[in-house]
Amino acid sequence: MTARIDSFEVRVFETETRSTRDHHGHRHPGPLAAAHEALVTVRDSEGAEGHVLTPVRNVREDAFADPLLRGLVGRPVMSVEQVMRDVVMAQRGNPVDIADRRIAVVDELLWDLIGVRAGAPVWRLLGGAQERVRAYASTMCGDEIEGGLATPEDYARFARQLVEQGYRAIKLHTWFPPVAFAPSVKRDIEACAAVREAVGPDVDLMLDGYHWYNRQEALTIGRAIEELGFRWFEEPMEEVSITAYRWLSDQLDIPVIGPETASGRNLSRGDWAHFGAVDILRIGPQNGGGITSSMKALHMAESLGMTCEIHGNGAASLAVVAATYASQFYERGLLHPHSDYDWLPPHLSGQVDPLDDDGGVTLHERPGIGQQIDLDHIRRHTVRAYEVTA
Ligand code: MG
Repeated sequence: MTARIDSFEVRVFETETRSTRDHHGHRHPGPLAAAHEALVTVRDSEGAEGHVLTPVRNVREDAFADPLLRGLVGRPVMSVEQVMRDVVMAQRGNPVDIADRRIAVVDELLWDLIGVRAGAPVWRLLGGAQERVRAYASTMCGDEIEGGLATPEDYARFARQLVEQGYRAIKLHTWFPPVAFAPSVKRDIEACAAVREAVGPDVDLMLDGYHWYNRQEALTIGRAIEELGFRWFEEPMEEVSITAYRWLSDQLDIPVIGPETASGRNLSRGDWAHFGAVDILRIGPQNGGGITSSMKALHMAESLGMTCEIHGNGAASLAVVAATYASQFYERGLLHPHSDYDWLPPHLSGQVDPLDDDGGVTLHERPGIGQQIDLDHIRRHTVRAYEVTA
């Protein structure tokens, strides 16, 4: 008998954070503060478990338990294609509750369980291409914090620190509203120039700036960072117009990369590749429909002679980057002069992505996705929980 999904358990627990979010959702450094997070557990008919951590908003019972989880009880654990097809088909009739980020939680849960059952890390089960991956330092967005990321000189100083820490590649996120002076084409270019000057020609640099520039503004920035030898130009315009991105990619020599936030999972990536909208594809497990969808985009990119870079940090992103040769970097961040990325919240017992002194991350050999979760801490600090069975 094949193992089948038996039940799900959702726990909201108290932990600690050192970051805050502005009202556009951008993270900035903050004081040590109490926070809530959620753990979702899947159990199979043989007692094996998979776990995924996710923001509390993703596990609201009325939007998660019945619309998504309950229908999966009884499904074969190893048939992830079969289960995920049912989930994405159900999205059509209930796109609000069955959002891509909730789909991703289910998909990552299944992969974690499959890895645990196999006694193997998921990145190896998915192909196991790269035992060590190159990482880039991905900065937080610009701000107005003293000694933070408020000026081009701040970015330059921070970039020098990052190179001293071992990074060999850096991606700048520049200024967004609600920062008063954002957006600014001129200031974005000045920050890029200051960082290139600070780190010299041998460090790979990328820009991810304001996402609502028009074509001409994007072209101006793209030409400037082309001159500065940047490696890619990310999401300068809204990701709803393939035509606008195709126009931009046609004008620039520097590779344009995307889409990061477009809906449609791997299917939309197919169109972006087919219509020549970008030079480098992009998807991520968290908002691109999970590991399964990201793997389809990676294999498609490789088959077309393209690369595909993975959005976001964490265990699932790292697994997907390492699985094939189509990704060239792991995104390590977000980083800020006033924030310690290597600080562990109390519900984690270890880090999934320790940086080595030459800008790389060596993959772990733990069964499953590989996140080191302190389940005892979570049980002791649970504030509410629910279970989903048949
Ligand atoms: Mg981005």
